[in-house]
Amino acid sequence: MFLTLIKKFVSEIREKKLRIGSSNLLSVNNLKTYFFYYNKIIKAVDGIDFNINRNEILGILGESGAGKSVCALSILRLLPSFNYQITGEVLLNHVNLLKLKEYEMQRIRGSQISMIFQEPGISLNPLMTVGKQIAETIQLHQGLNYRDSWTKVIELLKMVKISDPVKSAKKYAYEMSGGMKQRVMIAMALSSNPSLLIADEPTTALDVTTQRQILILIRELQKKLGTSVLFITHNLGVIAEIADRVMVMYAGRALEYAEIGDLFNNTGHPYTLSLLKCIPRIDTPKGTRLKVIPGNLPNPAIPITGCSFHPRCEYAIDLCKKQEPDLFEINKNHLVRCWLFH
Ligand code: SF4
Repeated sequence: MFLTLIKKFVSEIREKKLRIGSSNLLSVNNLKTYFFYYNKIIKAVDGIDFNINRNEILGILGESGAGKSVCALSILRLLPSFNYQITGEVLLNHVNLLKLKEYEMQRIRGSQISMIFQEPGISLNPLMTVGKQIAETIQLHQGLNYRDSWTKVIELLKMVKISDPVKSAKKYAYEMSGGMKQRVMIAMALSSNPSLLIADEPTTALDVTTQRQILILIRELQKKLGTSVLFITHNLGVIAEIADRVMVMYAGRALEYAEIGDLFNNTGHPYTLSLLKCIPRIDTPKGTRLKVIPGNLPNPAIPITGCSFHPRCEYAIDLCKKQEPDLFEINKNHLVRCWLFH
């Protein structure tokens, strides 16, 4: 009996060490999020796999409607409460979040995983000063008293480079610019030192200059605090600036995984290639029409046979219409779901 206990203790310590030493923070395996609407099944996310290492920024790139945000909300189990089903595994430090009870999940949200959204104006409470909102989050997750939490609020506002943090903490959201509000959201998200920050299009509502400042800030803070980031965007320029690795999503499926340099220098999937061709270039002759990808994303309520991109793909062959391709490795850590690489 005593020997069994010692063995159990040693194996627990070994497992703990492995967890601490492992660079993998989040593993998402075969994640499927289906909505049930009347007699239709809407496959918003349809079998996604990815992992995020510690201290890494993984970008999810795709058009609106590709399933990026549903994927993020499924990880946090924050989907609106109508008819849906999430299956698969979301392992955070080897704990499957999909199996946790709601009260356990509540402890994870805001402490181990935080999220920032596209529209900071909507996420902030208009009736409370921003300082009070951050202080409440700190009191809730760290149990600090009012005085200590207020000191931390000022430190956090300084960290996200808000000028005159003492004065700014007493402001309401409507008294701040879009960039300042997003800095406040970042401060609030990082207030509990989460291991993972999910940023869902955090710069889309901002002008280009502020967008760049926020991207630099997220990069700096991620390096300083060692937080991993899941960064969702439809913008290739933004992804180039921020991500270490990228997963390209289309119609609820992952079409390409690559390290950031490889994605741009050795683009594999015809869909990613088409997105790249749509970017306006400074050397394009005046009067040239901007390229677009013909057609639209497929209707998620209608099952697709074959490759989901085939109706819009200029390289489609017969096989593409009949059978969905697997992921093929075209380079180290570079996978492409396309028959051209079979
Ligand atoms: Fe295009 Fe076929 Fe490749 Fe799909 S599998 S991206 S349709 S070539």
